[in-house]
Amino acid sequence: MGRRVTRSLTALWALHPELRAKEELQAREERFEKLEAQFKKRRKRPAEEIEQEEGEEKDEENQKKQPGLETPKKQKDFDKQKEELEKREAACVAKESVIQAQEAAQKKLAAEQSAKEAAQLAKEAELQSLEQRLKEKEQSLAKSQPAPTQLVTLAAGSVMLDKLSTGSLRYLEIQEAIFSTKGRGFSKKSKTITAIYVYSEAMSGTAINTCMTNFANYVGAGSIATEYRFHGTVSACATFSTTPPPPAHSALSPCRAETCSLCSILRRGFLAARIRTGSFLKFGHGFYTAKNSWLADGYVSPHGGGTHRALIVCKVAIGNVQHLRPGSSEHSRRSPDRGYDSVCGLRKSGSETVVYREDAIIPVGVVVYT
Ligand SMILES: [Zn+2]
Repeated sequence: MGRRVTRSLTALWALHPELRAKEELQAREERFEKLEAQFKKRRKRPAEEIEQEEGEEKDEENQKKQPGLETPKKQKDFDKQKEELEKREAACVAKESVIQAQEAAQKKLAAEQSAKEAAQLAKEAELQSLEQRLKEKEQSLAKSQPAPTQLVTLAAGSVMLDKLSTGSLRYLEIQEAIFSTKGRGFSKKSKTITAIYVYSEAMSGTAINTCMTNFANYVGAGSIATEYRFHGTVSACATFSTTPPPPAHSALSPCRAETCSLCSILRRGFLAARIRTGSFLKFGHGFYTAKNSWLADGYVSPHGGGTHRALIVCKVAIGNVQHLRPGSSEHSRRSPDRGYDSVCGLRKSGSETVVYREDAIIPVGVVVYT
């Protein structure tokens, strides 16, 4: 049934000239569009290429149409042109390779430069870290370095003072105490500490050992506050002001001269029996110390005019401080008022801490300075 319909449609089509003409027009339009597209495509390509292609096409056409009819002159011209083109192309390629080589060289140089820089930076960083490590090592060494200890066991009853290492905690503590006063006091600019000596831990059976025990018992387990104070006094020996100066010694022993107040205190502690009487005892019959090292230095009298001076460093049971009225003179005082542990008296030069019990004060060492 379908076939029959198609056939009848074809017949109808043949009979209709107007429809046929329309179909032909459409076909022509399609062809035109195709050609136009080809033309556009060609225009987009470089002229040279098109020329070459056209030339080739022409050649092909010529060869097709007139094989072997090419004139020698034309062939020669063509060859020449071709040769020239090839030459130019080769020159271009050569130029390009030169440029590429130059670029590669530049890149290599830049890479080398940055590698050099990176190496330099790495070296610097390494150096810095090395320096840092060295510093840390030095610091830790200074901290861990124990006070020079006696290799020989001290005979019972021998008093020995060991030089503190400058980085040790006790050294720093005492140093801070020395330079603690602002204004009229020792400063790091005005004074140089040459050495700090403290009692050797190897000591045993000495009068000082007994004093230490008594002091510890008196102050109890922190029930009475203690503080560093300085005591300046006369010396009749050159133990702490000798040549070579004290820093050359890792340990020193106080002398036994009765007239040497400095060594006597270091050997036996503060004794009430040794307190001299006189009007200079403004705040009574006690042991006078100062927080201001400069003030204590006023009582120092080195033997033989030595260049090095020595101050006794003490721990004093300050506890509850009784402040005396400015200008007060209490020559007969033998203790603080009830409820107080120490007295603080004012002189023109500064304040002084006074305790009246032998077990309320203990020497801990000596600061040697210039
Ligand atoms: Zn002495």
